Amino acid sequence: VTTLKDRRVAVFGLGGSGRVSVDALIAGGAKVVAFDDRAETVEKAKAEGVPTGDLKDEDWTTFAALVLAPGVPLTHPHPHWSVLRAEAAGVPVIGDVELFARERRAHCPQAPFVAITGTNGKSTTTALIAHMLEAVGRSVGLGGNIGTAVLSLPALSGGRNYVVECSSYQIDLAPSLNPSIGVLLNLAPDHLDRHGTMENYAAVKRRLVAGSDVAVIGVDDRMSSDIADALAQAGRRVIRISNRFPLAEGVYAAGTRILEADNATQTEVADLAGIASLRGAHNAQNAATAVAVCRALGVPAAKLKAALASFPGLKHRMEPVARLGRVHFINDSKATNADAAARALASFERIYWIAGGRPKSDGIAALSDYFPKIVRAYLIGEAAKGFADTLGGAVDHVDAGTLEAAVAMAATDAERDGAGEIAVLLSPACASFDQYANFEARGDAFRAAVAAYLESRNKLT
Ligand code: ADP
Repeated sequence: VTTLKDRRVAVFGLGGSGRVSVDALIAGGAKVVAFDDRAETVEKAKAEGVPTGDLKDEDWTTFAALVLAPGVPLTHPHPHWSVLRAEAAGVPVIGDVELFARERRAHCPQAPFVAITGTNGKSTTTALIAHMLEAVGRSVGLGGNIGTAVLSLPALSGGRNYVVECSSYQIDLAPSLNPSIGVLLNLAPDHLDRHGTMENYAAVKRRLVAGSDVAVIGVDDRMSSDIADALAQAGRRVIRISNRFPLAEGVYAAGTRILEADNATQTEVADLAGIASLRGAHNAQNAATAVAVCRALGVPAAKLKAALASFPGLKHRMEPVARLGRVHFINDSKATNADAAARALASFERIYWIAGGRPKSDGIAALSDYFPKIVRAYLIGEAAKGFADTLGGAVDHVDAGTLEAAVAMAATDAERDGAGEIAVLLSPACASFDQYANFEARGDAFRAAVAAYLESRNKLT
């Protein structure tokens, strides 16, 4: 990135995207001083030729910017010392998404840039948009919070569509973010640890759509719909999305059908029935949003259906991993809280539920509406005892201890079940850290346990 050429730039946080920022800044001629609170990380960077220095000893008035890795506390409960120093010296505190946005503005403003945020469904929608654009033959750079750091995407070019997932942390650090299309999926209480109040959190997310040329906004929650109204009133181009009610203008879902409404003319653009990777009402919101973005980027309506149908889905999010007759094995390891597990429980009718891990403070009492669909629950990890208390007499349950034992029991029980379509569902409503490094490792272990069950069963027959 060349927008800080010849300027002194402080970079704090050298894991992952911070390290990528250092390389991009240096390649663009900036004079970087990089630092981290972990001495080993600084040593490693230094050994790789990164110019490091103790930022505590620097004259902060000489810096043009502090580039902060996402996750370094900015506001709450108290800011990181580097942020305090930067602010005291009047130095802007920014992140890699800001550097990307500035670079695009300076050198390639015609490059389509879709930035996606929201409380839930960001990764799915980001991946879906990228997939659909690729499916219709576009060149795509996919990155941000979903994986690849934005500064390691292929070089800016007007012929490429940049599709970038933004967490509220990243938006916080991108004061001049102005994507060509900004997406706000929804707003629900989350991450209040960093942003303090819901108003703050909403204000951060709002900036992403307020700064965009076209704003695509899910209007099914009150706060997002207020934001859509305010932007529309200010004369901005807003495309509304709903999966609750028909719209006169915008894109909405009626059950599994996705409709485009324009001047009160309704056109069905796709039906999600039968697309396993987009099962569930929440995915209708994600699909309607992706349809709106593709349309705004000029994709013909006739191509959308095939583009949606070929979406492979994201791993660990209601991912179908195997099927045994009527028994579907579903990996929803990413559901680390009750709210996310609710989406999965809502999406199936007859469920053998594997849940547990390291519990969240609010437990699973909020899931009681779904208890009648759960034939039996297989509890694992630290949450087993507490979840058993909540399920009580309402749901048959067993403390399976490990995921492997849970899968073997659930699969055996499900195969004996004579009724209809059945889901053996891992949707833990818990963090994974008591038994696994992360939710990905837990999901991979589920897949392996299912494979082991299928294999042992093949040997028997
Ligand atoms: P994020 O990237 O915002 O965390 P993901 O796309 O990874 O979201 O989905 C995480 C989980 O959130 C999914 O497994 C699903 O349970 C739930 N989810 C997905 N999309 C939505 C949505 N539009 N509204 C509410 N919940 C959703």
